[in-house]
Amino acid sequence: MSGLTRPDLDALPNYVPGRTVPGAIKLASNEVPYGPLPGVVEAIAEAAADTHRYPDMGVVALREALAERYGVDPDRIATGCGSVALAEHLARVTCMPGDEMLYSWRSFEAYPIIAATAAAASVKVPNTPEHGHDLPAMAAAVTDRTRLVLVCNPNNPTGTAIRRPELEAFLDAVPENVLVVIDEAYREFVTDPQVPDGLEIAGDRPNVVVLRTLSKAWGLAGLRVGFLVAPPEVAAAVRKIVTPFSTSSTAQAAALAALRQAEEMQRRADQVVAERERLVPALRKLGADVPESQANFVWLPLGDGATEFAAACERAGVIVRPFAGDGVRVTVGTPEENDTFLAAAEAALA
Ligand code: PMP
Repeated sequence: MSGLTRPDLDALPNYVPGRTVPGAIKLASNEVPYGPLPGVVEAIAEAAADTHRYPDMGVVALREALAERYGVDPDRIATGCGSVALAEHLARVTCMPGDEMLYSWRSFEAYPIIAATAAAASVKVPNTPEHGHDLPAMAAAVTDRTRLVLVCNPNNPTGTAIRRPELEAFLDAVPENVLVVIDEAYREFVTDPQVPDGLEIAGDRPNVVVLRTLSKAWGLAGLRVGFLVAPPEVAAAVRKIVTPFSTSSTAQAAALAALRQAEEMQRRADQVVAERERLVPALRKLGADVPESQANFVWLPLGDGATEFAAACERAGVIVRPFAGDGVRVTVGTPEENDTFLAAAEAALA
């Protein structure tokens, strides 16, 4: 150690991306299994002709398109290099060193890294035995140092989702000077009508932000486009500190093209959901205690067997995402990919 970098970063876990192995089926990063939506590649090609120019830093056209689709004012929207970057920006606009960032655990693995890079203290409230958020315990864990609360709905990696009364009660319980982020990266895969749309539940609440991404159902993971809908003051703060030009011109063009294909996006998401509903009972039949999922992945709580299960799947040509000592997250793929995975799972769980 040379002392050139902050000592507190040494203890930080690395973000582990889903592995890509040539020739293998990748069910490790919660991507959709189809190619880009129609018109997206053409839009990228067209935008690429202007690559020598900087993108629109205000992201005006895209923010307006998002505003129209989601029925909010463009002032409430900020875009970023993936929603993960926006979560980081939210930590930076809310937390001073030593302040607390509160979230359920296990949840999205970027959260502890985001807290640490903002020099905030992570306060992790354990998931319920059913692998969901323990919102009453989270509300009780709010202190006068809490600046930011992250609620992942549906939760990555467990797929569990919070229902309306619980979420509303939680939002009512959190003081208005604490920002609550509802991370809805997987919103398009939600089918339970009792799981509320964060945008609706946020309404005019002064301290609620909804985080969305175009990486999952919209199929733009490689281009890195996320957005948030926030109270105007918070959105403006994020736009102020965002790395300049971080939503590239190709990303903006592709996002606009994707948004024009909303129906096709939802049709594809519905296919993924149909496969999810096939996978969950099939895995339960094999003995895995899989919780109901509202996302495009399923969670196998295999405890100490997680790493070996993932290795067995990999030997069978399927890459899944193990969380050592805890469980395995498997992204829903095409019907054929899921069949290959189920065969591997059957052998591994036998
Ligand atoms: N939030 C959650 C819950 C996620 O699972 C992910 C992606 N794994 C993200 C945010 C970030 O996605 P992106 O940066 O691609 O928008």
